[in-house]
Amino acid sequence: GAAPPPEYLARLNPEQRAAVETLDGPLLVLAGAGTGKTRVLTTRFAHLLMTGRAQPHQVLAVTFTNKAAREMRERLGAILNRPVEGLWLGTFHALAARMLRRHAELVGLTSSFTILDTDDQTRLLKQVMEAEGVDLKRWPPNGLMGIIQRWKDRGLTPDRIPAAETSDYANNRAEKLYAAYQARLIALNACDFGDLLLHITEILRTNTEVLASYHRLFRYILVDEYQDTNLVQYLWLRLLAQGHKNICCVGDDDQSIYSWRGAEIENILRFERDFPGAQVVRLESNYRSTRPILAAAAGLIARNEGRLGKTLRPGRADASGERVRVVSLWDSEEEARMVGARIEEARRDGVSLGEIAILVRAGFQTRAFEERLITLAIPYRVFGGAKFYERAEIRDAIAYFRAMSQPADDLAFERIVNTPKRGLGDTAMAAMHKLAREQQMPLRVAAERLCQTDALRPRPRAALRELLENLSRWNAGLEKEGHVVIAAQVLEESGYIDMWKADRSIESAGRLDNLKELVRAMGDFATLGAFLEHIALVMENDDNSEGEKVSLMTLHAAKGLEFDMVFLPGWEEGLFPSQRSLDEGGAKSLEEERRLAYVGITRARRHCVISHAANRRIYGNWVSSIPSRFLDELPEGEVLREGGVTQQPRMPSSVFAAGLPLSSQRRPRVIEAGAWEVDQRPEREKAFARGTRVFHQKFGYGRVLAVDDDKLEIEFEKAGVKRVLDRFVEPA
Ligand code: ATP
Ligand code: MG
Repeated sequence: GAAPPPEYLARLNPEQRAAVETLDGPLLVLAGAGTGKTRVLTTRFAHLLMTGRAQPHQVLAVTFTNKAAREMRERLGAILNRPVEGLWLGTFHALAARMLRRHAELVGLTSSFTILDTDDQTRLLKQVMEAEGVDLKRWPPNGLMGIIQRWKDRGLTPDRIPAAETSDYANNRAEKLYAAYQARLIALNACDFGDLLLHITEILRTNTEVLASYHRLFRYILVDEYQDTNLVQYLWLRLLAQGHKNICCVGDDDQSIYSWRGAEIENILRFERDFPGAQVVRLESNYRSTRPILAAAAGLIARNEGRLGKTLRPGRADASGERVRVVSLWDSEEEARMVGARIEEARRDGVSLGEIAILVRAGFQTRAFEERLITLAIPYRVFGGAKFYERAEIRDAIAYFRAMSQPADDLAFERIVNTPKRGLGDTAMAAMHKLAREQQMPLRVAAERLCQTDALRPRPRAALRELLENLSRWNAGLEKEGHVVIAAQVLEESGYIDMWKADRSIESAGRLDNLKELVRAMGDFATLGAFLEHIALVMENDDNSEGEKVSLMTLHAAKGLEFDMVFLPGWEEGLFPSQRSLDEGGAKSLEEERRLAYVGITRARRHCVISHAANRRIYGNWVSSIPSRFLDELPEGEVLREGGVTQQPRMPSSVFAAGLPLSSQRRPRVIEAGAWEVDQRPEREKAFARGTRVFHQKFGYGRVLAVDDDKLEIEFEKAGVKRVLDRFVEPA
C-alpha cells in the first residue's frame, strides 16, 4: 500500500489537504474564520519545499502583518525541522520595498532610497504646494495627502488618472501637485509608503525583462487575508502570477475590514475572472471556537447583505462550551473592573495571560483597562500601537501640564515650546539653551529673558511671549477653575488641539479622542499634582519583562489571531458601531462595522465576554449610551445576559436617565462635537473606611489608618506605615 502521509499532512482535514496538494494553477480558498486558512497556507509552503517543488527563495508569501510573517516562518521551521532562510515572506510593503531596491534605478532612485514617515511626507507636500502658490489655509496638505494616497492605492501614477477619478481639490490642481510631489520625492531619492508598490508595479508593467525574471524566480505565490488587498496590491500580484499562474489566495469576505484604507472586496470576485480555471476550495469546519461562540458570530454576520455565503460548523472535538456573555455595566470604570476581575479569576483557574485579549474599537478605550491592569499588577502589552500614556499626543499634553505647573521642568518645556510650530527654529532654541546654561536658570526663565531682548525675530518672539504668558495664566487659574477645566483650556488655547484638527490624516481623529480621554481621566483626581503623580507611577510601572501578558489591541489589529479568552468592551452606539459609520449613514459602512464585530467574536476559542457601559463621560459630561445594535442581533439562545450594574449613580439624576431600563433610553444626550467644556464636579467616592483591610500592588496587605481625600495612610504588614493614593489600593 501507499506510504502514510507525512505528519504535517495528516493534521489536515480532507478539504484542507486538497487545498495544500492542489499545487498547479490558481487556487482560491474562501472560508470563514478559524477554518484553517492560515494553517493551509503555511502547510502548503512547507509541502512545496518538502516535495522539492520549490526552493525557499522561489516562493513569494504575503501576510498582513509582520507578526503573521514571523509566525509563518516559525511554523515552517518547525515542520521542516530546520531554520529556513532566504524567504520572500512578509507584508506587501516589506516585499515591495525589497524588490524595489533591486530595480530602483528604473524609476530614477538609487537602491539606498529612504522611506519617508508621514511627518516628512506632509512637510514635503507643503513645500510643493507653497511652490505652486496654493493657499494652505484653504487647502490643508493632508487633504491632498489623502487624495494622493487613494490614487496610489489604486495604482495610478500622475499621468494615468482617468477622468472619473480626478479631483477638484485646489481648483483642479491635485494632479499637477501630485506630479510635482512625485518629482520632488525622486529628486530626494525618497519614497513614501504608497510609492513602494506603485513604483514596483509600474516597473513590472513596463519592463518585460524584469517581469520575466520574477516569473522565473517565483514558482509559487501565497497570499493570506486576501479579502483586504487593495487594487495596487492586486495588480502587483496579478503581474507576478501571470507567468506560471501558481497563485493561492486565502480569504474571507466576512472579514474584510480595511475598505477605509482602500481594500477592495471585489478582488475576491475578480479572482475567478482574471485567473480562468481557478479552483475554489471551501473549508467549513471551524477548529478555533466552541459552538456557542460560532453560533453567536454567525447569527450576527447573517444580518449583512451581499455576502458570498459560506457554511461554518464547529469542528473542535470539545465544541460544546459556555455561552457568550453580554454584560451591562454602569460606566467604563466598572467595565474595566469587571474585565480585571474576570482576568484574575481566569488566571487563578490556570488560564495563561498570553491567552487573554481585550479588543477595543477605538484606541482611547485602552486607558481604562491599562489602569485597571496596572492596579491589579497584571502584565499587559498593547499591540499595534503604544500604551496610552506613551502615545505622542498624551506625552505632549502632559508636557504642557508639567511645563505650566513646574516652571523648572526643562524637559517638558522643551517638548512643547515649539509644538505646535511657533516659528522657533534651531537658532532660537540654541540661544535659549545657551542662556540657560550660562546663567544656570531654567529654560523657561531663559526664554522669558530672551523675549526682552531682540535676539529673536519679531514673530517668533511674539509667539514665545504669548506661550509664556499663557503658561502663567493657566497655572494661576488652576485653583479657581480646577485642573480639568484648565487642562481643556491649555490644549485648546495653546493651539495643540487645532494642530491635530488641521491634520487630516487617518490617525488624527484617534489622537483627538485620546486627548479627550486624557482630560476625562483627570477628573478622577482631586488635583493636577495628584494626577501627575499618578502618571509618574504608571510610567514607572512599565515592565519590559518577558513572560505571559494580556494583549490589548484594536479589533483591526486582531485579525488572524486567536485567544482562549476574549473581552469585547464598549459595544455602544456611537462607539461600536462607530459614530462615523452612523454619520455616513450608508448600509456599507455599517456592514463593515458588523464584520469587525464578527472578527472580534471569532478570535475567541473558549470564552467571549462582550460588554457595554450605560454611561460614558464625554468631554466631561455624562452621557447615557445606547447599547450597540449588534447586541440585539446576537442570537438569544447563544448568549447569557448579565446585569452587572453594581454601583449606584454617582451623578445627579438629571444628567442621565437613571432608573430607566436600557432599552428605553433611546436618545442619547447630544453633545456638540468639538465642544471642550468639561465639568469639574469631582466624583471621588471610593470610600475606604478606617480599619479596612486593603491590598496595594507594591506594598501588599495592610490596614487603613487614616483617609485624607484621595490619600490613605496605611499600616502595611510588611512595608510599615505609608501614605498612598487610593487608586492603587483594593479592599482585600
Ligand atoms: P482566520 O479567518 O481568523 O484568519 P484561519 O482560517 O486562518 O482563521 P487558522 O488560524 O489557520 O484559521 O486556524 C484556526 C485554528 O484552528 C488554529 O488554532 C489552527 O491550528 C486550528 N486548526 C486548523 N485546522 C485544523 C485541523 N484540521 N485540525 C485541528 N486544528 C486545526
Ligand atoms: Mg488566518
